[in-house]
Amino acid sequence: MDTSDAIRHYADDAIDITYDAHRCIHAAECIRGLPAVFDSGRRPWITPPAASADEIAKVIAKCPSGALHFRRRDGGPEEIPQDPTTIEPAPGGP
Ligand code: SF4
Repeated sequence: MDTSDAIRHYADDAIDITYDAHRCIHAAECIRGLPAVFDSGRRPWITPPAASADEIAKVIAKCPSGALHFRRRDGGPEEIPQDPTTIEPAPGGP
């Protein structure tokens, strides 16, 4: 599989967000959680300057598929991987 165009970066001075379209299950946690930043009807659909890096990090932590990740560029706390990895079935989900 060619992943070169699957993972996209959306960044500003505070945070670098990566989005892997192949992993997204369209659960819309991101859109519900922070619609100013995540809006699938807009291009680009992710606009980091529309909220603080802390707010964005909090919403990305709720992404159930792992499609969204971030790296802080402002010295803020980095993502903490879940240990151990857990699987939570969702109604109507995969
Ligand atoms: S929260 Fe994650 S899985 Fe859900 S729509 Fe956003 S990127 Fe996709």
